[in-house]
Amino acid sequence: MAEFTGGDDYQAEFDPKAYLEYYKLGEGTLGEENLNFVLKHYCKTFTSGVVKGDTLIDIGSGPTIYQLLSACESFKEIIATDYTYRNHLELEKWLKNEPGAFDWSPVVKYVCELEGNRGKEAEKEAKLRKTIKQVLKCDVHKSNPMDPLILPPADCLGSSLCLEAACKDLNAYRVALKNISSLLKPGGHLVLSGDLGCSFYMVGPKRFSCLVLREEFLREVLSETGVFIQEFEVLYRDDKIIDDSCDFSGMYFIVACKGKAI
Ligand code: SAH
Repeated sequence: MAEFTGGDDYQAEFDPKAYLEYYKLGEGTLGEENLNFVLKHYCKTFTSGVVKGDTLIDIGSGPTIYQLLSACESFKEIIATDYTYRNHLELEKWLKNEPGAFDWSPVVKYVCELEGNRGKEAEKEAKLRKTIKQVLKCDVHKSNPMDPLILPPADCLGSSLCLEAACKDLNAYRVALKNISSLLKPGGHLVLSGDLGCSFYMVGPKRFSCLVLREEFLREVLSETGVFIQEFEVLYRDDKIIDDSCDFSGMYFIVACKGKAI
């Protein structure tokens, strides 16, 4: 089994620029099919009119914004968060449109097309930049992940590929899910996506461990936490794609609602 990489490893060795290689659309990267899958579901979720409100907190945003492109149409305020300061800096570079910021334009273009707003890329980027009000430090292992800050409970909580990266075992995942769901209002939505069956992923030359997740476990742990699944989508990996950077077997996309059964 791959050695567990925790917070200190992320702080010392998670290179945002190397990680962002996964998000270069149109260059035949491993991430492309998966990215299209989640972007379609984000679009559907956030344009449905059901998942909306004042505030969305994104947990473990890393250096990425793709997960927020549709959400900024349905929330007045987005708070991005991550464990490492280097990810904060990378995100802020994009937010301030500084030289050297990652070029999200192929992804933005794809989302605009999905939303039926072809050609409105500049407006979309401006809207997202305006909606992300803060980039904050968070640690999913703390009972208040935003400690020392106390945030008002949010209308929506998003998180992609974070808990499986941050947690050593299924029990730690269980606790972390409980910790983050404390940031959510009752009746608020949790939009969770990530990898199934993944034990590691490469970020440049560095190997990071990942907690192997299965659909049954996710269903069980969400219901234990009092979060009721409204949608559970899975995309299995195309076996024909040979790539050594990550051993995931599929992707999941979940929309769930806190404390309100359907
Ligand atoms: N959400 C992004 C990044 C996922 S990579 C995406 O969808 O691509 C995993 C992220 O989890 C990294 O940015 C890492 O810094 C963050 N992370 C690792 N341990 C964490 C912890 N204990 N609390 C919060 N975030 C953590």
